[in-house]
Amino acid sequence: MSGARIDAIAIDGPASSGKSTLAREVARRLGFVFLDTGSLYRAVALAFLSAGVSRFVEEDPSVARILSSLDIAVTPGPTGARISLGGLDVTDQLRTEEVGALASRISAWPKVRMALFELQRRLALAGRIVMDGRDIGTVILPEARLKIFLVADPETRARRRQKDLESQGDSRPLETVLADILERDRRDRERPVSPLIQAPDALLLDTTRLSIDEAVTWIVDRYR
Ligand code: C5P
Repeated sequence: MSGARIDAIAIDGPASSGKSTLAREVARRLGFVFLDTGSLYRAVALAFLSAGVSRFVEEDPSVARILSSLDIAVTPGPTGARISLGGLDVTDQLRTEEVGALASRISAWPKVRMALFELQRRLALAGRIVMDGRDIGTVILPEARLKIFLVADPETRARRRQKDLESQGDSRPLETVLADILERDRRDRERPVSPLIQAPDALLLDTTRLSIDEAVTWIVDRYR
């Protein structure tokens, strides 16, 4: 793509590939802010759950009503953004499995993606930001100066996720976690709108055998 590049790093990849961990640390080293865009999809899911939506289909009138009055505010910071919904800080409520599972489903809906586009684009264009997600390099900020597409083998990702869940007091068998990851990957890759794909000019980074420090250093070196 021609045109001006924006001083930003787009990190895309499947679930539990290490995006947020790396993005946060890369941002810290460069003095950039960091935004995990998954938290925005999670905030929309939370808005649906809080409003008591019972039928999760895109055409449901209550879904349309909630999306049209969606009031999400993002305050980016060096270690992550605070997210508020209707003026209330909901950041600490976004990481539950219930919210994550619903976010994975509703993120396939074009109406949801449209509702979050402008907000992400505005933050991205401000620059000096590391954003992670599924479509940052392809849709939200194709002008990012550096684009990374992260991958790791599914079993490694499942083990990382299992450890994360464990630290929240939620212990699950590896097979269950793996099946869930594969299902989320499938939804992200197969949706017609903004599917998870590597941008043609994104660099591929496989984190299966890398430590966090090695992966962060690799990204920062490429950026510099
Ligand atoms: O990354 P995280 O698991 O927090 O994201 C929640 C869900 O939001 C994911 O399952 C994914 O389907 C969706 N997502 C997306 N596009 C993004 C970021 C997240 O579709 N840019």
